[in-house]
Amino acid sequence: MKDNYDLVVIGGGPGGYEAAIRAGQLGMSVACIEKRVYKGEPALGGTCLNVGCIPSKALLDSSHRYEATKHDLAEHGISTGDVAIDIEQMIARKEGIVKQLTGGVAALLKGNGVDWLQGWGTLEDGKGADKKVKFTALADEVETTITAKNVILAAGSVPIDIPVAKLMAIASLTLLAPLTSLLYLTFRRYWCWCHRS
Ligand SMILES: Cc1cc2nc3c(=O)[nH]c(=O)nc-3n(C[C@H](O)[C@H](O)[C@H](O)COP(=O)(O)OP(=O)(O)OC[C@H]3O[C@@H](n4cnc5c(N)ncnc54)[C@H](O)[C@@H]3O)c2cc1C
Repeated sequence: MKDNYDLVVIGGGPGGYEAAIRAGQLGMSVACIEKRVYKGEPALGGTCLNVGCIPSKALLDSSHRYEATKHDLAEHGISTGDVAIDIEQMIARKEGIVKQLTGGVAALLKGNGVDWLQGWGTLEDGKGADKKVKFTALADEVETTITAKNVILAAGSVPIDIPVAKLMAIASLTLLAPLTSLLYLTFRRYWCWCHRS
């Protein structure tokens, strides 16, 4: 870690890591600060790669294959035995995809000379030629001030807590991806029921 960069990006999601990589390719000295820990490991990729787009689509893919095997193959003259869902294996496959993609982002940052700073970033002073960013390391919570000519805030967003709707708590990001899968299966069953001949 240096104490001065051309660009500091706060947030290592799709918004942040793309900007950091491109700036690195253009020859700037770049740091990307990301605080996320996923399954006990610091992780790049933001919501999208860790708990959003990618895991939900991985699970949807599995649900789709299950549904098609169970209900669509007979029409093609293909018979199967009992078809069962092994949720543990579905989740393990999803985790493998997440790990591969987030690891790929880390390799891209490294390959383009971007320093991945694992911890919290706070813009302390955004005025003047040298902006000040406070970096708090995940590992030991030691605080350092970094200066940068440019700062990009790509911190994403978090849902607000609605006190009257306590049930919202169970719809956490971790549950959203499996829920998407479940909704798909339910909808598909309903659709098949409506169109039964
Ligand atoms: C279930 C689900 C499915 C989705 N599916 C799709 C889809 O199919 N297609 C699609 O286009 N979009 C989808 N999205 C939306 C997509 O995930 C977001 O649009 C995208 O992740 C936003 O990227 P971002 O970089 O702006 O923010 P994020 O991905 O949220 O990344 C921001 C990162 O900044 C980090 N951060 C925040 N504050 C700090 C700080 N102070 N210091 C250091 N780090 C910090 C956070 O830890 C986070 O990792 C889905 C979202 C969900 C929840």
